[in-house]
Amino acid sequence: MSLHDNMNTTRDIYRELGISEDVYDKCELILSSLEERFKEIDRVAEYNQLKVLKAMQDERVSEACLNGTTGYGYNDIGRDTLERVYSRIFKTEEALVRPQITCGTHALTVALSGNLRPGDEILSPVGKPYDTLEEVIGIRESRGSLAEYGITYSQVDLKDGKSFDYDAIKAAINDRTRLVTIQRSKGYQTRKTLSVGEIGELIAFIKGIRSDIICMVDNCYGEFTETIEPTEVGADMAVGSLIKNPGGGLAPIGGYIVGRKPFIENAAVRLTSPGLGKEVGASLEVLRSFYQGLFLSPTVTASALKSAIFAAALFKDAGFDVVPDATDSRHDIIQAVTLKSPKKVIAFCKGIQSAAPVDGFVTPEPWDMPGYDSPVIMAAGAFISGSSIELSADGPIKEPYAVYFQGGLTWAHGKFGIMKAYQEVLNTEK
Ligand SMILES: *Cc1c(COP(=O)(O)O)cnc(C)c1O
Repeated sequence: MSLHDNMNTTRDIYRELGISEDVYDKCELILSSLEERFKEIDRVAEYNQLKVLKAMQDERVSEACLNGTTGYGYNDIGRDTLERVYSRIFKTEEALVRPQITCGTHALTVALSGNLRPGDEILSPVGKPYDTLEEVIGIRESRGSLAEYGITYSQVDLKDGKSFDYDAIKAAINDRTRLVTIQRSKGYQTRKTLSVGEIGELIAFIKGIRSDIICMVDNCYGEFTETIEPTEVGADMAVGSLIKNPGGGLAPIGGYIVGRKPFIENAAVRLTSPGLGKEVGASLEVLRSFYQGLFLSPTVTASALKSAIFAAALFKDAGFDVVPDATDSRHDIIQAVTLKSPKKVIAFCKGIQSAAPVDGFVTPEPWDMPGYDSPVIMAAGAFISGSSIELSADGPIKEPYAVYFQGGLTWAHGKFGIMKAYQEVLNTEK
Protein backbone atom coordinates (compact mmCIF):
# COMPACT_ATOMS: atom_id res chain seq x y z
CA MET A 1 0.00 0.00 0.00
CA SER A 2 1.31 3.44 -0.86
CA LEU A 3 1.31 6.42 1.46
CA HIS A 4 -1.39 7.95 -0.70
CA ASP A 5 -3.74 5.02 -0.04
CA ASN A 6 -3.12 5.37 3.65
CA MET A 7 -4.04 9.02 3.61
CA ASN A 8 -7.33 8.22 1.98
CA THR A 9 -8.49 5.47 4.28
CA THR A 10 -10.28 7.61 6.86
CA ARG A 11 -12.35 9.44 4.28
CA ASP A 12 -12.96 6.15 2.48
CA ILE A 13 -14.22 4.30 5.49
CA TYR A 14 -16.57 7.17 6.35
CA ARG A 15 -17.93 6.92 2.80
CA GLU A 16 -18.37 3.18 3.18
CA LEU A 17 -20.30 3.87 6.38
CA GLY A 18 -22.70 6.25 4.64
CA ILE A 19 -21.13 9.67 5.23
CA SER A 20 -21.06 11.89 2.14
CA GLU A 21 -17.97 13.85 1.14
CA ASP A 22 -19.75 17.12 1.92
CA VAL A 23 -20.69 16.06 5.42
CA TYR A 24 -17.20 14.75 6.05
CA ASP A 25 -15.61 18.05 4.99
CA LYS A 26 -18.11 20.13 6.93
CA CYS A 27 -17.45 18.10 10.09
CA GLU A 28 -13.69 18.45 9.78
CA LEU A 29 -14.13 22.20 9.42
CA ILE A 30 -16.37 22.39 12.50
CA LEU A 31 -13.90 20.29 14.46
CA SER A 32 -10.99 22.56 13.63
CA SER A 33 -12.85 25.33 15.47
CA LEU A 34 -13.17 23.18 18.59
CA GLU A 35 -9.51 22.39 19.19
CA GLU A 36 -9.07 24.69 22.17
CA ARG A 37 -12.27 23.41 23.76
CA PHE A 38 -11.16 19.82 23.37
CA LYS A 39 -7.76 20.56 24.90
CA GLU A 40 -9.48 21.93 27.98
CA ILE A 41 -11.56 18.73 28.23
CA ASP A 42 -8.42 16.63 27.90
CA ARG A 43 -6.83 18.57 30.74
CA VAL A 44 -9.80 17.86 33.01
CA ALA A 45 -9.66 14.18 32.01
CA GLU A 46 -5.93 14.05 32.70
CA TYR A 47 -6.42 15.45 36.19
CA ASN A 48 -9.30 13.10 36.94
CA GLN A 49 -7.44 10.10 35.57
CA LEU A 50 -4.62 10.77 38.02
CA LYS A 51 -7.09 11.44 40.84
CA VAL A 52 -8.68 8.01 40.26
CA LEU A 53 -5.31 6.29 39.88
CA LYS A 54 -3.98 7.87 43.05
CA ALA A 55 -7.06 6.84 45.02
CA MET A 56 -6.63 3.25 43.83
CA GLN A 57 -2.94 3.22 44.70
CA ASP A 58 -3.45 4.90 48.07
CA GLU A 59 -6.02 2.25 48.96
CA ARG A 60 -3.63 -0.47 47.77
CA VAL A 61 -6.06 -2.04 45.32
CA SER A 62 -4.73 -5.55 44.73
CA GLU A 63 -5.59 -8.40 42.42
CA ALA A 64 -7.57 -10.01 45.24
CA CYS A 65 -9.87 -6.95 45.28
CA LEU A 66 -11.10 -7.82 41.80
CA ASN A 67 -12.64 -11.10 42.97
CA GLY A 68 -16.07 -11.04 44.51
CA THR A 69 -17.90 -12.84 47.25
CA THR A 70 -21.12 -14.83 47.41
CA GLY A 71 -23.84 -15.36 50.02
CA TYR A 72 -23.90 -12.73 52.75
CA GLY A 73 -20.75 -11.13 51.48
CA TYR A 74 -19.06 -10.70 54.87
CA ASN A 75 -15.47 -9.43 54.68
CA ASP A 76 -15.70 -8.56 51.01
CA ILE A 77 -12.36 -6.79 50.74
CA GLY A 78 -12.87 -5.85 47.09
CA ARG A 79 -16.20 -4.17 47.87
CA ASP A 80 -14.91 -2.44 51.00
CA THR A 81 -11.74 -1.25 49.26
CA LEU A 82 -13.73 0.07 46.32
CA GLU A 83 -15.90 2.07 48.70
CA ARG A 84 -12.78 3.59 50.22
CA VAL A 85 -11.54 4.44 46.71
CA TYR A 86 -14.82 6.27 46.05
CA SER A 87 -14.47 8.08 49.38
CA ARG A 88 -11.03 9.30 48.37
CA ILE A 89 -12.16 10.45 44.94
CA PHE A 90 -15.18 12.31 46.31
CA LYS A 91 -13.32 13.42 49.47
CA THR A 92 -15.96 11.97 51.79
CA GLU A 93 -15.95 9.99 55.03
CA GLU A 94 -17.93 7.07 53.63
CA ALA A 95 -19.26 5.52 50.46
CA LEU A 96 -21.82 2.92 49.51
CA VAL A 97 -21.07 1.46 46.06
CA ARG A 98 -23.13 -1.61 45.36
CA PRO A 99 -24.53 -3.80 42.61
CA GLN A 100 -27.62 -4.16 44.84
CA ILE A 101 -28.37 -0.53 44.01
CA THR A 102 -30.30 -1.17 40.81
CA CYS A 103 -30.10 2.26 39.17
CA GLY A 104 -29.78 5.99 39.83
CA THR A 105 -33.38 6.35 40.94
CA HIS A 106 -32.87 3.56 43.46
CA ALA A 107 -29.68 5.15 44.80
CA LEU A 108 -31.57 8.41 45.32
CA THR A 109 -34.47 6.53 46.92
CA VAL A 110 -32.12 4.80 49.36
CA ALA A 111 -30.36 8.07 50.24
CA LEU A 112 -33.67 9.87 50.80
CA SER A 113 -35.64 7.20 52.61
CA GLY A 114 -32.67 6.26 54.78
CA ASN A 115 -32.27 9.80 56.01
CA LEU A 116 -35.85 11.05 56.32
CA ARG A 117 -38.41 10.34 59.00
CA PRO A 118 -42.16 11.01 59.20
CA GLY A 119 -42.84 14.72 59.53
CA ASP A 120 -39.66 15.74 57.71
CA GLU A 121 -39.74 17.94 54.65
CA ILE A 122 -37.62 17.80 51.49
CA LEU A 123 -36.84 21.03 49.66
CA SER A 124 -35.72 21.23 46.03
CA PRO A 125 -34.35 24.75 45.52
CA VAL A 126 -33.54 24.10 41.84
CA GLY A 127 -36.98 23.37 40.41
CA LYS A 128 -38.64 20.12 39.56
CA PRO A 129 -36.44 17.06 40.04
CA TYR A 130 -35.83 14.30 37.52
CA ASP A 131 -39.01 12.57 36.30
CA THR A 132 -38.57 9.34 38.23
CA LEU A 133 -38.04 11.25 41.49
CA GLU A 134 -41.57 12.62 41.26
CA GLU A 135 -42.92 9.20 42.13
CA VAL A 136 -40.22 8.53 44.73
CA ILE A 137 -41.07 11.72 46.60
CA GLY A 138 -44.79 11.52 45.85
CA ILE A 139 -45.05 14.72 43.80
CA ARG A 140 -46.98 12.40 41.51
CA GLU A 141 -49.01 9.99 43.62
CA SER A 142 -47.34 6.61 43.68
CA ARG A 143 -47.38 3.43 45.72
CA GLY A 144 -44.69 3.46 48.41
CA SER A 145 -43.71 7.10 47.90
CA LEU A 146 -42.14 9.14 50.68
CA ALA A 147 -45.42 11.05 50.87
CA GLU A 148 -47.11 7.84 52.09
CA TYR A 149 -44.69 7.91 55.04
CA GLY A 150 -45.66 11.44 55.97
CA ILE A 151 -42.72 13.17 54.33
CA THR A 152 -43.62 16.40 52.60
CA TYR A 153 -42.02 18.23 49.70
CA SER A 154 -41.55 21.83 48.71
CA GLN A 155 -39.92 23.37 45.68
CA VAL A 156 -38.43 26.66 44.61
CA ASP A 157 -37.81 27.17 40.90
CA LEU A 158 -34.74 28.79 39.44
CA LYS A 159 -35.25 32.39 38.38
CA ASP A 160 -35.52 32.40 34.56
CA GLY A 161 -34.22 28.83 34.60
CA LYS A 162 -30.83 30.23 35.62
CA SER A 163 -30.21 31.71 39.03
CA PHE A 164 -31.11 30.72 42.59
CA ASP A 165 -34.11 32.47 44.08
CA TYR A 166 -32.49 33.07 47.46
CA ASP A 167 -35.41 34.98 48.97
CA ALA A 168 -37.87 32.24 48.07
CA ILE A 169 -35.47 29.54 49.28
CA LYS A 170 -35.11 31.27 52.62
CA ALA A 171 -38.88 31.59 52.91
CA ALA A 172 -39.35 27.90 52.04
CA ILE A 173 -37.07 26.64 54.79
CA ASN A 174 -39.01 25.79 57.94
CA ASP A 175 -38.51 23.76 61.13
CA ARG A 176 -39.40 20.55 59.33
CA THR A 177 -36.96 21.05 56.44
CA ARG A 178 -34.59 18.12 56.92
CA LEU A 179 -33.03 17.63 53.50
CA VAL A 180 -32.33 19.75 50.46
CA THR A 181 -32.02 17.92 47.15
CA ILE A 182 -29.97 19.60 44.45
CA GLN A 183 -29.94 18.14 40.95
CA ARG A 184 -26.67 19.01 39.23
CA SER A 185 -27.70 18.08 35.69
CA LYS A 186 -30.62 19.69 33.91
CA GLY A 187 -31.65 16.16 32.96
CA TYR A 188 -34.28 16.47 30.26
CA GLN A 189 -35.36 19.97 31.12
CA THR A 190 -34.46 23.34 29.69
CA ARG A 191 -32.96 24.89 32.81
CA LYS A 192 -29.21 25.14 32.90
CA THR A 193 -26.93 22.54 34.47
CA LEU A 194 -25.29 23.71 37.68
CA SER A 195 -21.55 23.95 38.04
CA VAL A 196 -19.95 22.55 41.19
CA GLY A 197 -19.09 26.13 42.14
CA GLU A 198 -22.72 27.22 41.94
CA ILE A 199 -23.80 24.19 43.97
CA GLY A 200 -21.26 25.24 46.60
CA GLU A 201 -22.74 28.73 46.79
CA LEU A 202 -26.24 27.33 47.21
CA ILE A 203 -25.15 24.94 49.95
CA ALA A 204 -23.32 27.71 51.81
CA PHE A 205 -26.50 29.78 51.73
CA ILE A 206 -28.63 26.92 53.06
CA LYS A 207 -26.14 25.98 55.76
CA GLY A 208 -26.05 29.65 56.74
CA ILE A 209 -29.75 29.44 57.51
CA ARG A 210 -29.62 26.08 59.28
CA SER A 211 -26.42 24.08 59.38
CA ASP A 212 -28.19 20.80 60.25
CA ILE A 213 -30.07 20.58 56.96
CA ILE A 214 -28.72 17.66 54.92
CA CYS A 215 -27.62 18.82 51.48
CA MET A 216 -27.83 16.01 48.93
CA VAL A 217 -26.73 16.33 45.31
CA ASP A 218 -28.15 14.20 42.51
CA ASN A 219 -24.83 13.88 40.70
CA CYS A 220 -26.09 11.82 37.72
CA TYR A 221 -24.27 12.67 34.46
CA GLY A 222 -22.02 15.16 36.22
CA GLU A 223 -19.17 13.01 37.53
CA PHE A 224 -15.71 13.87 36.18
CA THR A 225 -16.93 16.72 33.97
CA GLU A 226 -15.01 19.02 36.32
CA THR A 227 -11.96 18.48 38.52
CA ILE A 228 -14.01 18.80 41.71
CA GLU A 229 -17.21 17.12 42.85
CA PRO A 230 -20.10 18.56 44.88
CA THR A 231 -18.92 16.78 48.05
CA GLU A 232 -15.86 19.06 47.98
CA VAL A 233 -18.02 22.17 48.26
CA GLY A 234 -20.18 21.19 51.19
CA ALA A 235 -22.61 18.52 49.92
CA ASP A 236 -23.35 16.00 52.70
CA MET A 237 -24.18 13.34 50.11
CA ALA A 238 -23.73 12.86 46.37
CA VAL A 239 -25.60 10.15 44.54
CA GLY A 240 -25.29 8.59 41.10
CA SER A 241 -25.66 5.65 38.76
CA LEU A 242 -22.91 3.29 37.62
CA ILE A 243 -24.43 2.88 34.16
CA LYS A 244 -23.66 6.53 33.64
CA ASN A 245 -20.30 8.32 33.99
CA PRO A 246 -18.55 6.57 36.92
CA GLY A 247 -19.14 3.06 35.59
CA GLY A 248 -17.08 3.97 32.54
CA GLY A 249 -19.32 1.85 30.33
CA LEU A 250 -18.11 -1.36 31.95
CA ALA A 251 -20.18 -1.56 35.14
CA PRO A 252 -23.21 -3.72 34.24
CA ILE A 253 -25.36 -2.39 37.12
CA GLY A 254 -25.04 -0.37 40.29
CA GLY A 255 -25.19 2.94 42.03
CA TYR A 256 -23.25 4.93 44.60
CA ILE A 257 -23.89 7.20 47.54
CA VAL A 258 -20.92 9.07 48.99
CA GLY A 259 -20.89 11.47 51.90
CA ARG A 260 -20.73 12.00 55.62
CA LYS A 261 -20.62 8.88 57.75
CA PRO A 262 -23.98 9.03 59.57
CA PHE A 263 -25.87 9.71 56.35
CA ILE A 264 -24.20 6.86 54.48
CA GLU A 265 -24.88 4.53 57.39
CA ASN A 266 -28.52 5.59 57.36
CA ALA A 267 -28.62 4.79 53.66
CA ALA A 268 -26.88 1.44 54.18
CA VAL A 269 -29.35 0.17 56.77
CA ARG A 270 -32.15 1.11 54.42
CA LEU A 271 -30.50 -0.64 51.46
CA THR A 272 -29.85 -3.85 53.41
CA SER A 273 -31.37 -4.00 56.87
CA PRO A 274 -31.18 -2.36 60.29
CA GLY A 275 -28.33 -4.01 62.17
CA LEU A 276 -26.65 -5.22 58.98
CA GLY A 277 -25.91 -2.04 57.05
CA LYS A 278 -22.74 -2.11 55.01
CA GLU A 279 -21.56 -5.47 56.40
CA VAL A 280 -23.61 -7.54 53.96
CA GLY A 281 -24.08 -7.47 50.21
CA ALA A 282 -22.03 -9.92 48.16
CA SER A 283 -20.33 -8.32 45.19
CA LEU A 284 -20.67 -11.49 43.06
CA GLU A 285 -18.74 -11.08 39.80
CA VAL A 286 -18.98 -7.34 39.22
CA LEU A 287 -16.03 -5.85 41.08
CA ARG A 288 -13.54 -6.07 38.23
CA SER A 289 -15.89 -4.07 36.01
CA PHE A 290 -16.54 -1.54 38.80
CA TYR A 291 -12.82 -0.91 39.26
CA GLN A 292 -11.92 -0.97 35.59
CA GLY A 293 -14.94 1.16 34.64
CA LEU A 294 -14.07 3.72 37.30
CA PHE A 295 -10.51 3.77 36.01
CA LEU A 296 -11.73 4.47 32.45
CA SER A 297 -14.47 6.88 33.49
CA PRO A 298 -12.50 10.17 33.23
CA THR A 299 -11.59 9.55 29.58
CA VAL A 300 -14.97 8.04 28.71
CA THR A 301 -16.65 11.12 30.20
CA ALA A 302 -14.29 13.30 28.14
CA SER A 303 -15.35 11.42 24.98
CA ALA A 304 -18.99 12.01 25.83
CA LEU A 305 -18.30 15.72 26.45
CA LYS A 306 -16.50 16.10 23.13
CA SER A 307 -19.34 14.35 21.34
CA ALA A 308 -21.88 16.68 22.96
CA ILE A 309 -19.89 19.78 22.03
CA PHE A 310 -19.35 18.57 18.48
CA ALA A 311 -23.11 17.95 18.14
CA ALA A 312 -23.84 21.42 19.49
CA ALA A 313 -21.44 23.10 17.06
CA LEU A 314 -22.52 21.09 14.02
CA PHE A 315 -26.28 21.46 14.49
CA LYS A 316 -26.01 25.10 15.50
CA ASP A 317 -24.11 25.74 12.29
CA ALA A 318 -26.96 24.06 10.41
CA GLY A 319 -29.45 26.51 11.95
CA PHE A 320 -30.90 24.48 14.84
CA ASP A 321 -31.22 25.63 18.46
CA VAL A 322 -28.92 23.76 20.81
CA VAL A 323 -28.70 23.66 24.63
CA PRO A 324 -26.05 24.15 25.83
CA ASP A 325 -24.25 26.09 23.14
CA ALA A 326 -20.91 24.77 21.85
CA THR A 327 -19.15 27.61 23.64
CA ASP A 328 -20.97 27.29 26.99
CA SER A 329 -19.14 25.74 29.94
CA ARG A 330 -20.20 22.14 30.57
CA HIS A 331 -21.14 20.40 33.78
CA ASP A 332 -22.91 17.33 32.43
CA ILE A 333 -22.89 15.22 29.26
CA ILE A 334 -26.42 15.86 27.95
CA GLN A 335 -26.94 17.79 24.72
CA ALA A 336 -30.32 19.00 23.51
CA VAL A 337 -30.89 19.78 19.82
CA THR A 338 -34.21 21.28 18.72
CA LEU A 339 -34.93 19.86 15.28
CA LYS A 340 -38.33 21.49 14.80
CA SER A 341 -39.94 18.54 12.98
CA PRO A 342 -40.96 15.00 13.94
CA LYS A 343 -39.33 13.69 10.76
CA LYS A 344 -36.00 15.11 11.80
CA VAL A 345 -36.24 13.76 15.35
CA ILE A 346 -36.80 10.30 13.89
CA ALA A 347 -33.97 10.79 11.40
CA PHE A 348 -31.55 11.90 14.12
CA CYS A 349 -32.33 8.84 16.24
CA LYS A 350 -32.06 6.58 13.20
CA GLY A 351 -28.60 7.98 12.59
CA ILE A 352 -27.47 7.37 16.17
CA GLN A 353 -28.88 3.84 16.09
CA SER A 354 -27.19 3.02 12.81
CA ALA A 355 -23.85 3.99 14.36
CA ALA A 356 -24.23 1.48 17.20
CA PRO A 357 -21.93 -1.52 17.66
CA VAL A 358 -24.88 -3.59 18.93
CA ASP A 359 -28.27 -3.57 17.14
CA GLY A 360 -26.88 -1.16 14.54
CA PHE A 361 -29.13 -2.82 11.94
CA VAL A 362 -32.31 -1.97 13.86
CA THR A 363 -34.55 0.98 12.93
CA PRO A 364 -35.96 2.77 15.98
CA GLU A 365 -39.63 3.83 15.94
CA PRO A 366 -41.60 6.19 18.20
CA TRP A 367 -43.77 4.35 20.75
CA ASP A 368 -46.12 5.17 23.61
CA MET A 369 -43.90 4.68 26.61
CA PRO A 370 -45.60 4.32 29.98
CA GLY A 371 -45.36 7.54 31.94
CA TYR A 372 -44.96 9.85 28.95
CA ASP A 373 -47.66 12.04 27.43
CA SER A 374 -46.44 11.67 23.82
CA PRO A 375 -44.73 8.97 21.76
CA VAL A 376 -41.00 8.76 22.39
CA ILE A 377 -38.28 7.56 20.07
CA MET A 378 -35.08 6.15 21.51
CA ALA A 379 -31.82 5.17 19.92
CA ALA A 380 -29.43 2.95 21.80
CA GLY A 381 -27.28 0.10 20.70
CA ALA A 382 -25.44 -0.47 23.93
CA PHE A 383 -23.31 -3.24 25.39
CA ILE A 384 -25.01 -2.59 28.72
CA SER A 385 -28.77 -2.35 28.34
CA GLY A 386 -30.03 1.17 29.00
CA SER A 387 -26.55 2.52 29.57
CA SER A 388 -26.57 6.21 28.76
CA ILE A 389 -22.82 6.73 29.00
CA GLU A 390 -22.88 4.81 25.72
CA LEU A 391 -23.94 6.70 22.59
CA SER A 392 -27.69 7.18 22.89
CA ALA A 393 -30.47 9.62 22.04
CA ASP A 394 -34.11 10.06 22.75
CA GLY A 395 -36.79 12.45 21.67
CA PRO A 396 -40.43 12.90 22.58
CA ILE A 397 -42.51 13.39 19.44
CA LYS A 398 -43.98 16.73 20.46
CA GLU A 399 -43.21 20.44 20.25
CA PRO A 400 -40.52 21.72 20.04
CA TYR A 401 -39.25 18.43 18.58
CA ALA A 402 -36.02 18.30 20.55
CA VAL A 403 -33.72 15.31 20.86
CA TYR A 404 -31.54 14.66 23.86
CA PHE A 405 -28.25 13.10 23.06
CA GLN A 406 -25.59 11.74 25.36
CA GLY A 407 -22.67 9.40 25.71
CA GLY A 408 -19.97 7.93 23.54
CA LEU A 409 -17.51 5.45 25.02
CA THR A 410 -14.81 6.66 22.65
CA TRP A 411 -14.53 10.03 20.95
CA ALA A 412 -14.16 8.46 17.49
CA HIS A 413 -17.42 6.62 18.00
CA GLY A 414 -19.26 9.63 19.41
CA LYS A 415 -18.06 11.69 16.46
CA PHE A 416 -19.23 9.10 13.97
CA GLY A 417 -22.65 8.83 15.64
CA ILE A 418 -23.18 12.58 15.37
CA MET A 419 -22.06 12.54 11.72
CA LYS A 420 -24.58 9.76 11.00
CA ALA A 421 -27.33 11.66 12.78
CA TYR A 422 -26.46 14.82 10.84
CA GLN A 423 -26.36 12.94 7.54
CA GLU A 424 -29.82 11.40 8.23
CA VAL A 425 -31.27 14.79 9.16
CA LEU A 426 -29.88 16.30 5.94
CA ASN A 427 -31.28 13.41 3.92
CA THR A 428 -34.82 14.29 5.10
CA GLU A 429 -34.42 17.65 3.34
CA LYS A 430 -33.74 16.05 -0.03
C1 LIG B 1 -30.50 9.27 35.03
C2 LIG B 1 -30.84 10.20 36.09
C3 LIG B 1 -31.53 9.78 37.24
C4 LIG B 1 -32.09 8.39 37.42
O1 LIG B 1 -31.22 7.39 37.11
P1 LIG B 1 -31.75 5.98 36.53
O2 LIG B 1 -30.52 5.17 36.53
O3 LIG B 1 -32.30 6.24 35.18
O4 LIG B 1 -32.76 5.48 37.48
C5 LIG B 1 -31.77 10.71 38.22
N1 LIG B 1 -31.36 11.99 38.09
C6 LIG B 1 -30.72 12.43 37.00
C7 LIG B 1 -30.28 13.86 36.91
C8 LIG B 1 -30.43 11.55 35.97
O5 LIG B 1 -29.78 11.99 34.89
